Amino acid sequence: MKFGGTSVATGERIRNVADLVAENSKKGCKIVVAVSALDGTTDELFEAAEGAKKGNETLVREFKLKMLRKHSEAASKAIRNNEIRKEVEQTIEKTTDELEKVLTGICYVGELTPKSTDYVLSFGERLSAPIVCGAIRNLELKAQWFTGKEAGIVTDSNFGEASPLMNVTVHQLKERIGPLLERNVIPIVTGYIAATQDGVVTTIGRGGSDYTSTILGVAFAADEVWIWTDVDGIMTADPKIIPSAKTLPELSYQEAAEMAIFGAKAMHPRALEPVIKEKIPVRIRNVFHPENPGTLITEQPNTKSKEAVKAIALIRDVAMININGASMVGAPGSYAQVFDVLGKNNINIMMISTAISESNISLVIRRDLLARAISNLEIALLGRGLVNEVTSEDDVSVVAVMGANMKGTLGVASRIFTTVARKSINIRMIAQGSSELNISFVVKERDGEAVARAIHEEFKLDKI
Ligand code: ASP
Ligand code: MG
Repeated sequence: MKFGGTSVATGERIRNVADLVAENSKKGCKIVVAVSALDGTTDELFEAAEGAKKGNETLVREFKLKMLRKHSEAASKAIRNNEIRKEVEQTIEKTTDELEKVLTGICYVGELTPKSTDYVLSFGERLSAPIVCGAIRNLELKAQWFTGKEAGIVTDSNFGEASPLMNVTVHQLKERIGPLLERNVIPIVTGYIAATQDGVVTTIGRGGSDYTSTILGVAFAADEVWIWTDVDGIMTADPKIIPSAKTLPELSYQEAAEMAIFGAKAMHPRALEPVIKEKIPVRIRNVFHPENPGTLITEQPNTKSKEAVKAIALIRDVAMININGASMVGAPGSYAQVFDVLGKNNINIMMISTAISESNISLVIRRDLLARAISNLEIALLGRGLVNEVTSEDDVSVVAVMGANMKGTLGVASRIFTTVARKSINIRMIAQGSSELNISFVVKERDGEAVARAIHEEFKLDKI
């Protein structure tokens, strides 16, 4: 079971988490828990680290007190038993003292490396796990908490986005955590954080607790991995835009992964990697409505519905870049030069489209990176004879239409684009990979919501 930041945001919610664990444990389930930092903590830690880099010692002191207060308050609400609560409060004090020392160190050095950033970010989960553990013990269950490092999760040293080394990880998890399960102790493992083979703390990418939970699921050959969150599951669209959006009862790994990548906010984009190989089902469930079955993600969903389109995502905060140059035509390596400039500047390309005429490439990137992307492209490419113009639009959104049965179904693209045309909305750019799992296109931002709604209606996703 994985509990995300909003599920453990306050002492009351942590109590609710403990109740859910206890209920299922009493039904005879053996449970391993992965837990995120209290809602917003990871962002706050990041800001504090940035402040420390600028030498702001007062801020460090204040931040330590703020973290101490926030977590002590959650502990005092989550844990009634005096003895357990005192023990947890001591852990919180010790951990926040260490956090202050680390941030003070950064103040003096005036430097923040990816390595030290990860170390600072690890404190969020190191502070939440003991509280969750205490709340479970408060219900007279046996529980013990571990950092990802103590539990044995080993990664490479790509700080901020480290990849787990699955073989040693599974071996160590079995060795260290396995015996607890035999003795009916519930292990609580910090999500998101791990360590290199040399024991240096790493993080596995924002939202990484999902990933931790599937790694744990694989190590213990779980029947199911339950990702507890604050919504009923993966939905056909964002209910804030489309109130009639429905929860999808079942999805394939492929579909769910596609949706995660497209920012349906369902889960960490790599979270499904470990379970796909082992065919372990993942279920997204709502902590506020545990009576709902949620969304079940498996290799072969056995739904009767054969809908081609299952979900729509609207991706805002993006920008489109157009690169024009007649000399790119028939010139091997010309696209490579464009990608190279962006790659070297650490700018991720989200979508690409180019036509057989070859004289124009369109790219979509994150909007906040636009200025940097344009200036680097101009410096590197203009005046070299290959590219004669780089233009951009920052008032666009991507609409992504997804579903595994789109593959091989005729007429899906035509229905999508006819729907858009009927709204008299212009499409700026289109991409469909040959996996045929999704069609993505760019429209002006002001039209994004209307387009998403019209397509939701056209494919009757409110009746799915
Ligand atoms: N606390 C981490 C984050 O906010 C990991 C997680 O929540 O899954 O990204
Ligand atoms: Mg989080």
